[in-house]
Amino acid sequence: MKSKRKIIVANWKMNPISFDEAKKLWSKSIKKIEETERISVIISPPYPYLTGLKKPNSKKIYLGSQDCSFERSGAYTGLVSPTMLFDIGVSYVIVGHSEVRKRGDTDEIVNKKMHSVIDSGMNVIVCIGEEKRNDNGEHLLFLKEQIEKTFKGINKNNYKNIIIAYEPVWAIGASSAMDSHSIYETSLFIRKIITEKFKIPLRSIPVLYGGSVDQDNCKNIVKDGDVDGLLVGRQSLDIKSFTDIVSALDF
Ligand code: PEP
Repeated sequence: MKSKRKIIVANWKMNPISFDEAKKLWSKSIKKIEETERISVIISPPYPYLTGLKKPNSKKIYLGSQDCSFERSGAYTGLVSPTMLFDIGVSYVIVGHSEVRKRGDTDEIVNKKMHSVIDSGMNVIVCIGEEKRNDNGEHLLFLKEQIEKTFKGINKNNYKNIIIAYEPVWAIGASSAMDSHSIYETSLFIRKIITEKFKIPLRSIPVLYGGSVDQDNCKNIVKDGDVDGLLVGRQSLDIKSFTDIVSALDF
């Protein structure tokens, strides 16, 4: 893992509120990322900005979408299809984000989206995470079941198109991140389940952590939590915080 590029996913959520601001945030983020050597960044703006933000021809920067429909086309008012996203140059799609799950996406829907994104020629960032945890370890059973359901029917050969974002729901938008030791234990647990399921080497599918990452905790989370990178929400909108995170992970 140490020799691999660390991955940062920037989830802008429903921000910023003007295209002008989006262009500024995009170009300042890109400028910083271009200076780095050991990271890859996937920036995921809201749908309306996707075509207007020009992706440089770089192996370090990718365009991501925050969600999509599992349908390809048809009478689905308000939805956006993976085929459309692929056509405009999107390389990664986040599925199963807890904010989308709260609006109704079940594990079965997330599973259909995973299939659809991969079949459309893109990579999928699948978010998993427990809503609460206690000392009984029930969250581990919850995670195992969530992985079984969301990965149903996913072909072993597709593992190169998948990134897992472990995001404990209670740590998203919170005042502090999960502690690094718990991140280490949980990410190892996730890696073992995936390894057993697909019979692939332990670190074949990158596992990221997301949930209240900032410029102060990011390096420790990646080093001590032993994850392959981070999914960053709020702090990806603050150019100073985000560029600090980008620099901190370039080791
Ligand atoms: C997220 O959007 O998935 C997220 C982790 O947000 P934040 O970094 O703001 O907690």
